[in-house]
Amino acid sequence: MKVMKFGGSSVSDSVRIASMIEIVESTHRAHPVCAVFSAMKGVTDTLLFAAREAAVGDPGYCARLRDIEERSQETCRALCTGDLLDATESAIHALCVELGQLLHGVDLVRECTPRTLDLIAGFGERLSCTIIANAMVCRGLPARYVDARTLIRTDETHGNAMVDFAASYDLIRAQLAGRPDDEVQVVTGFIAATDTGVSTTLGRNGSDYTASIVGAGLDVGSIEIWTDVDGVYSADPRFVSGAFVLPEISYREAMELSYFGAKVIHPYTMIPAVERGIELRIRNTLNPDAPGTRITATSSNAQTITGIASIESVALVNVEGGGMVGLPGIAGRLFSRLARERINTIMISQASSEHSICFVVRDDDAERAAKALRDEFARELHQKQIERVALERRLEIVAVIGENMRGKPGISGRVFTAVGDIGLNILAIAQGSSEMNISFIVPQEDRQKALNAVHHAFFPGGV
Ligand code: ADP
Ligand code: ASP
Ligand code: MG
Repeated sequence: MKVMKFGGSSVSDSVRIASMIEIVESTHRAHPVCAVFSAMKGVTDTLLFAAREAAVGDPGYCARLRDIEERSQETCRALCTGDLLDATESAIHALCVELGQLLHGVDLVRECTPRTLDLIAGFGERLSCTIIANAMVCRGLPARYVDARTLIRTDETHGNAMVDFAASYDLIRAQLAGRPDDEVQVVTGFIAATDTGVSTTLGRNGSDYTASIVGAGLDVGSIEIWTDVDGVYSADPRFVSGAFVLPEISYREAMELSYFGAKVIHPYTMIPAVERGIELRIRNTLNPDAPGTRITATSSNAQTITGIASIESVALVNVEGGGMVGLPGIAGRLFSRLARERINTIMISQASSEHSICFVVRDDDAERAAKALRDEFARELHQKQIERVALERRLEIVAVIGENMRGKPGISGRVFTAVGDIGLNILAIAQGSSEMNISFIVPQEDRQKALNAVHHAFFPGGV
């Protein structure tokens, strides 16, 4: 069986869906196919926005709902025919009525809990897969809609749920193995459920992860992730003009690149793939003949660095004070407190003088992090053991990644010379002990300059 995943841009309208169906059809001639789909591009954002509007009593959510239903019905009319057209129109309408009732409920109580938000966020995949499964059938390709909430078990961490792999693999095998070979399994990405049936989601961009969980459950040899670019590039092609497609990268490089912002693949996608040795291949729906990028345990890439990625809108929190020197337990308390506040630290750096601990969080979490630490260390602040908890906002983290960097001297020098030569100010630096990642912080407005300078230093000829 082949597992294929198509992202939001590959199902953004009826024309793209028709091309995607041709790609599935040509694979289906040789293999049974299980295909995972995202919501149509932008729909998840719209759903989250509508939920936020409803929660504050802004009636704008009604227009958002109408837009989603109109776009879905229009796509359905362009792809479905006969009785299935009527059935699909009714199914879309029923989903939109349910969604409208939920949003109305949020409006009434003026509150949208993470649990309700997950339920609302998942309608995009339920709608897109309803349309896609029926569009396939109308084109003579037998297909079955499969709601991933019957396949993937998670805990109740809404918005970013933790997967119970053993239970999920059993469900996946029970629901998907042994189906007729000619029937395409159309699986909703992104959504899952707890063992009591409460809807959860796997995090933004999580449909990639759905595909690798399903692939691991079915024990397939490879998974194809179809998107809107030719593969994983050496840097985000939107910002770096000389960026080029990497023919091969390792799981670890893919994980690091995606963790540091290369959103072409969700970082967790690699977890089930590593465990089962499944090859991942990134391919382009707009250019299906391109070979794409292969992601496996090892790569034969000989370049010094593999790629550069960046995360925008981060903030630097600096906890500093002479009294911290030799005071045990400060770091432990600091990170425990952040964990209790559910604030994720992206990067940590501590000078050996122990005079300060500095770490990076998302800009949205920055104020909350500083407030929590001022509370945690109120006594130390009062006694001047800690002088201040300082914040620097609107920054960018840039990460230079590659397994070949390990054990090679002079790489940091080349990175920082490239950035220094164009006069950029670096605010913090970290290097993982695995030596496959050098990260640094610059002001947000310098993102493009920093990415291009480092890229040019290692790949002067571009492609
Ligand atoms: P999908 O809808 O298929 O899931 P995404 O928008 O989530 O697609 O991811 C694809 C996008 O990731 C590309 O259009 C590109 O702009 C962005 N991207 C960021 N960094 C990289 C990179 N290093 N290589 C390829 N694409 C990247
Ligand atoms: N639709 C979800 C999102 O926009 C999941 C995905 O596209 O992978 O985050
Ligand atoms: Mg994506």
